[in-house]
Formats: sequence, C-alpha cells, structure tokens
Amino acid sequence: MFDEKVKLVILLGAPGAGKGTQAERIAAKYNLKHLSTGDLLRAEIENSTELGKSAQAYMNVGKLVPDDVILKMVETYFSRHADCGILLDGFPRTIAQAEGLARFTVGRNILTLSIDVEADAVIERLSSRRSCKVCKKIYNLALPTYPPDERCECGGELYQRDDDKPETIRNRLAVYDAQTMPLIEFYRNQGFLHRIPGSGSPDDVWTKVQGAIG
Ligand code: AMP
Repeated sequence: MFDEKVKLVILLGAPGAGKGTQAERIAAKYNLKHLSTGDLLRAEIENSTELGKSAQAYMNVGKLVPDDVILKMVETYFSRHADCGILLDGFPRTIAQAEGLARFTVGRNILTLSIDVEADAVIERLSSRRSCKVCKKIYNLALPTYPPDERCECGGELYQRDDDKPETIRNRLAVYDAQTMPLIEFYRNQGFLHRIPGSGSPDDVWTKVQGAIG
C-alpha cells in the first residue's frame, strides 16, 4: 500500500510501454521526484559532456549504457535528494543495477509497478512518439491530440528521438527482453510488484496505476 512512508517507486516496462507518460502523472500526484535515466543521459549529450559522448554510442544503437556509469549517476542523484520520495523511470534495467540500487536505498519503502504491453503495440507507439525538446513531455503523432504546429504546450519544439527509428527500436526491445525482463522475477520475489496491463489510452492506464498504488 502506498502511504506517506513510501519513498521509492520503480516503474518497469518495455520502451514505449507508456512509462514516461504515467511517470509524469505519478510524480505530480504523489509528490515524487521523477528520475528518468534516459532524460539524464540525453541532457549529458546535449551539454556535450564526456559522459554524454561515451553514452551516445550505446544509445544510438539501442544498447544499454554500462552499469557502473548508470549506477554512479543514479547514486549521485539519490545523495542529492536523500530526503525526497523518488520515482524511477527507465532504471534499473539490469539485475546488476537493481542490486546496486538496493545498496543505496536501504530504509526506503519500495513499490514496483510494471506496465505490460505487446511488442507490436510498442513498435507502433515508439515510431509515432514525439518529445518536447524543452520540458520532455511526450506526444503521439497518431492521436488527435497531437498539436498541428508541432509545438508542445510549453512552446518547445517537438522532435523524434534518434533511437525511436525502426532499426534501433528492434534492438531496444531485444535488449529489454534479455536484460530487463528478469527484473520482474527479481521484484516479484521481493513481494512488492504490481503488474499493470498497458493497453488502452493513457487515461485508462492511469486509472489502473492509481488502483495499484491504492
Ligand atoms: P529511455 O529514455 O529510458 O528509453 O533510454 C534511452 C536509452 O538510454 C536506452 O536505450 C539506453 O541506451 C540508455 N539508458 C537509459 N537508462 C538506462 C539504464 N538504466 N541503463 C542503461 N542504459 C540506459
């Protein structure tokens, strides 16, 4: 059950399962800091840092950035937000990352949600996904709500991520199956996993997410 003591929500799901959209809503409603490792890495790339340059080579082909790099980045974030509730989106993605996370989150109450979708739906969603360059809000080209001027509600320009192209999408899904799916078992064994069917509109999924959080 999600009460004031819960300090860490882990959101699992394949790329394109709708994690980002649900993450924004969960963070706002339950007052959590939203940590997306993908967004952190893209910011490093935009700022042309050393970390960004080395991460880009992996991201461009849909591979995972090495665990030690990611764990260091996330640990720094946790140490800066030691007293805040945190929502993790896109992390952990491997068993090694989950084990690393467990080492620096001792004492936090953890809730894990997995948004489950079929591979076909994921490919379609990712191909039509557009993101705001400024606030990172996610849009879907195929929905009637897509802004005709290709501008976010904040005024930022919408763009297609380099790794949302078909070839890279296939690699990312294969990587998810091989390296991230085992986390479902990992968290199930710890007794705090909720699985949520990700089919339907963002609002439908949001209703189910709130039901799981309770
Ligand atoms: P995302 O925005 O979560 O889909 O992440 C985009 C890309 O960033 C992934 O395909 C990986 O290359 C990299 N990335 C993001 N989070 C992680 C992570 N936890 N571990 C390794 N690589 C990551």
